[in-house]
Amino acid sequence: MARILVPGGAGFIGSHTVLALSEAGHDIIVYDDLSNGHADSVLAGTFIEGSILDSAKLDVLFKEQAIDAVIHFAAFIEAGESVKSPMTFYKNNVAGSLTLLQAMAKHNVRNIVFSSTAAVYGQRDDLDLLSEEITKQPINPYGHSKWMVECMLRDMATTGAINAIALRYFNAAGSDPEGRIGERHEPETHLIPLILDAARGKRPNIKIFGTDYATPDGTCIRDYIHVVDLARAHVRAVELLLERPSKTGSYDAMNLGTSQGYSVREVIDAAKQVTGIDFEVIEEGRRPGDPGKLVADASKVAADLNWQAERSDLRTLLEDTWAFRRNLD
Ligand code: UDP
Repeated sequence: MARILVPGGAGFIGSHTVLALSEAGHDIIVYDDLSNGHADSVLAGTFIEGSILDSAKLDVLFKEQAIDAVIHFAAFIEAGESVKSPMTFYKNNVAGSLTLLQAMAKHNVRNIVFSSTAAVYGQRDDLDLLSEEITKQPINPYGHSKWMVECMLRDMATTGAINAIALRYFNAAGSDPEGRIGERHEPETHLIPLILDAARGKRPNIKIFGTDYATPDGTCIRDYIHVVDLARAHVRAVELLLERPSKTGSYDAMNLGTSQGYSVREVIDAAKQVTGIDFEVIEEGRRPGDPGKLVADASKVAADLNWQAERSDLRTLLEDTWAFRRNLD
């Protein structure tokens, strides 16, 4: 059993990871400023309200608690918002992570798993599958902010100060299969929750953003990954760091995806089948900044973490999300 600090643990992926950590027997401290998270999503561990920009509070926390590892989710995530307010993103995501890393260094906490994103790769419609080594060309401040933190981790690891694993998520979706927690972004901009809101009559329709992409049906292709699969990967990653500590520092990055993409139309059709509800679909123009295709080469994580997606097939993913979402207000 380890004591794990989880900044951002009240958010979507964080809260599911907290459940998985607790089921694996770990002791958890969730640290979240609730700017986007929900305190009632924290179903295990101790909750402390605070910001990763608050170095004094972090100092007290690390002094009082014997933290073995950090799983760092605390970040703003809306790519579109990041284009409008870049400095807000750089402050929270980059300066906040730096503040957290400084506190870790001061208190000699060496292990960190970091929430990164496929957005570090940018617009790579030329590639079928994205592997970890390709050039990082983020196309928005959100992607840049995550890549900057990865660079910090890599450079700190080079000095021997930390052991880090960055997990680059593709399209996180799904919900706890027991329906205890799920995705609650406000405002919601992600495809699957919006489709299900159209199915349950909370929205009049679902809009397809772009039907002229160079894909078989003209709509964008994404690699959707179930949040429970993501959560399990975090548990594996942190346990790997704890089991095989490097004295000289280490940094590794892994894609978390399935190597399988679905188009927007395929997701909509599958959602109609799962819910049994027909709803209106409207074709619109492209959403600025959307790459046509983002699908992971997920072979590295399978080998390094001995991890496979288990609930990320489209039907299971939609069924789990529907079970949670159909009862939301
Ligand atoms: N999308 C859509 N209609 C919507 C929301 C999203 O057609 O109302 C498309 C979007 O253009 C993208 C895909 O669905 O191609 C996934 O979008 P999402 O915002 O869920 O994730 P992203 O890939 O942008 O991180």
